[in-house]
Amino acid sequence: MAKRRKIYEGKAKILYEGPEPGTLIQYFKDDATAFNNEKRAVLDGKGVLNNRISEFVMTQLNNIGLPTHFLKRLNMREQLIREVEIIPLEVICRNVAAGSMSKRLGIEEGTPLPRSIIEFCYKKDELGDPMVTEEHITAFNWATHQEIDDILAMTLRINDFLTGLFAGARIKLVDFKVEFGRLYEGEMVRTVLADEISPDSCRLWDMDTGEKMDKDRFRRDMGGVTEAYAEVARRLGIIKEAGGAEILSFNGK
Ligand code: UDP
Repeated sequence: MAKRRKIYEGKAKILYEGPEPGTLIQYFKDDATAFNNEKRAVLDGKGVLNNRISEFVMTQLNNIGLPTHFLKRLNMREQLIREVEIIPLEVICRNVAAGSMSKRLGIEEGTPLPRSIIEFCYKKDELGDPMVTEEHITAFNWATHQEIDDILAMTLRINDFLTGLFAGARIKLVDFKVEFGRLYEGEMVRTVLADEISPDSCRLWDMDTGEKMDKDRFRRDMGGVTEAYAEVARRLGIIKEAGGAEILSFNGK
């Protein structure tokens, strides 16, 4: 069998050449990193769970007419996606104060925000993804005014939809990070949701106990990381058993 061409390797995922032009294969690794790569670990089964959770969320978003790069899941760790040009922004949407916002502004973690707040960070690991404003984004040509408008509208729509989706599973969507890409279709270019949506990129709190069900368990050395991700998948109806045994016992490839 011929070796696939690796297009890009990031911290938690690898992109391979897809079977057809305009497609890529997104492979979910078990690697976890935090604090700009200072903290690292391999968490058995995380990639398998994130592949399934992101598939589920992206499919639901596609179904409500929110364009995404997701085409279909291929196997335990891989999904077929459309090739897009990634807009170099991390778009963060917050409903409740937590993490860097709490630290920066001195707002106690868990304080509900008066309204959902969107922040932009420039995607640049060497700089630690600094927060930027629309002025920086347009001045440095990272995105156009039109693209920023599209991103803001889509992010709020994703937030509303996901808030409801998770609430149905007794999970509070505290905040999340999304990335967007440019999809070229002939003469046209369209902004679509890219990357992944998973407990690696969201803060998810159990609505009843307040327990963290996301990557903060890794960042803050709380343990039980993949177990919490599996519980998210179970509550969303993606997997059946509490421990996600049928997924975690399969080592994928
Ligand atoms: N986030 C992410 N990737 C990043 C930075 C943040 O997925 O490189 C997510 C993070 O999981 C959280 C939200 O974006 O759900 C807000 O993160 P925050 O700015 O509070 O940063 P952190 O406290 O994670 O450093």
